[in-house]
Amino acid sequence: MRALVTGGAGYIGSHLVRHLVDEGAHAVVLDDLSTGFADAVDRRARFVEGDIRDPALVRSVIEAERVDAVFHFAARIRVDESVKDPAKYYRDNVAASLALFDAILSGPARVVVLSSTAAVYGDPDPGVAALGEDHPKRPLNAYGESKLVLEGALARYGQAYGLRWAALRYFNAAGAHEDGSLRERHEPETHLVPIALEAAAGERTALTVFGRDYPTSDGTCVRDYVHVMDLATAHVAAARHLAAGRPGGAFNLGTGRGSSVAEVIACVERVTGRALPVVDAARRPGDASVLVASAERAERELGWRPTRDLDAIVRDAWRARRPRAL
Ligand code: UDP
Repeated sequence: MRALVTGGAGYIGSHLVRHLVDEGAHAVVLDDLSTGFADAVDRRARFVEGDIRDPALVRSVIEAERVDAVFHFAARIRVDESVKDPAKYYRDNVAASLALFDAILSGPARVVVLSSTAAVYGDPDPGVAALGEDHPKRPLNAYGESKLVLEGALARYGQAYGLRWAALRYFNAAGAHEDGSLRERHEPETHLVPIALEAAAGERTALTVFGRDYPTSDGTCVRDYVHVMDLATAHVAAARHLAAGRPGGAFNLGTGRGSSVAEVIACVERVTGRALPVVDAARRPGDASVLVASAERAERELGWRPTRDLDAIVRDAWRARRPRAL
């Protein structure tokens, strides 16, 4: 495989790049470093600093590197920001990605794997234990909406232009590379697992629990945490599946197992051996109470199954930050 990875200096993208080059694939990263980190890009990959909206650049990279599959991660990803400034999400996610797709279509690459999200669903219908891909999609914010628009565009482009595409709807990506050399870095950090580890390391006074009055067994929100290296293997499986001419579309990526915020806290305390300072706060606006994936389609069609559980997620994320934590 000869892969172009947009946003390959970001969290999930950099883990995919590592996996690709470990597997012997050729990877070229295109990233403008607006939120990514150049030092997260594996040295065996080629790194191009630039904008996905630059068609001449995209075309020249695809041609020069003889790219046959594009993994498209480059995007804004903050729900709160997308509520305050939706235009940024229509510009940087929708418009920029459409420009990227135009540039791809003018060249020879025909396989596109899009980073999508469980945020396309919004609030699940009451009583739905695990979300399948056909569940109604009612995004609660411009972030989720922007990914849904792109999925729709890919579906049309697939029919009209022969683009072979998959949209991978991640549930809660977490964890880090097992060797401790790559990790989750967001500035500012808003995600539960890295924030909990910062609190365990004493870099934060406390972890704030957003709401204990949800209709769940312990009152805290339930999410489906999926290891970032399991996501990496799913991307490769999806690209191979498409390259073999099999049908694409949207695939949920999760474990099918939900963990509450309280269970994540208990796991962090167990793995780190440290008591976690916790303060309670009101619900965070826009949070659904339970989001758990049914990833049966990915298992059935891509042959993908996550192999790492919440303990592995927390252990690997903790190991990756230990040099600073201790
Ligand atoms: N959460 C929390 N405290 C934090 C960050 C997150 O209680 O400092 C909760 C949040 O309300 C949600 C879960 O942890 O129920 C996962 O949140 P995260 O932002 O990691 O991912 P999301 O599910 O929003 O994509």
